[in-house]
Amino acid sequence: MANHAAPSSNLDQENSIEEEFDLIYGSESGWVEARTSCDHLGSLSADLTHIPTPDTPCNRCQHPSENWLCLSCKEVLCSRFVNKHMLQHYQQTGHSVALSFSDLSVWCFSCDSYLDAQVILQLRPVHEIAYILKFGEAPPSRTIQDPSMGNNKAEGSSSGN
Ligand SMILES: [Zn+2]
Ligand SMILES: [Zn+2]
Ligand SMILES: [Zn+2]
Repeated sequence: MANHAAPSSNLDQENSIEEEFDLIYGSESGWVEARTSCDHLGSLSADLTHIPTPDTPCNRCQHPSENWLCLSCKEVLCSRFVNKHMLQHYQQTGHSVALSFSDLSVWCFSCDSYLDAQVILQLRPVHEIAYILKFGEAPPSRTIQDPSMGNNKAEGSSSGN
């Protein structure tokens, strides 16, 4: 009688490969959890209600899209995947917090992490404004009550209260 080869379980192998993938690519691809606090918000611009539009080109190389907005001085600069002008700006000025015009995420260079703009109160208004500039409507969260931001798109007909 011939011996048949024992089937080998490869569950262990798969596990370790995934772990390695996580270590190498975890912060670049895939979802990384955003921080809900940041110690570098003190240098945010005092007026984040007036910001450049999301299609503003990079101030330095004129790269046309997917740029970052410095939330300290409102300069628009390109990403690390283009000419790294936002990264250089951080290194030269110490301005840590920037908002991505490509997906409206907020990044803190000092924390080296994304920040949750829905949770951090100082970031929420500028995130909403950027969202409106990009998509033409308010973000899906419900609590927007600033009347100065309304654009006559009243949907409810009864406004007596
Ligand atoms: Zn930070
Ligand atoms: Zn650039
Ligand atoms: Zn800046």
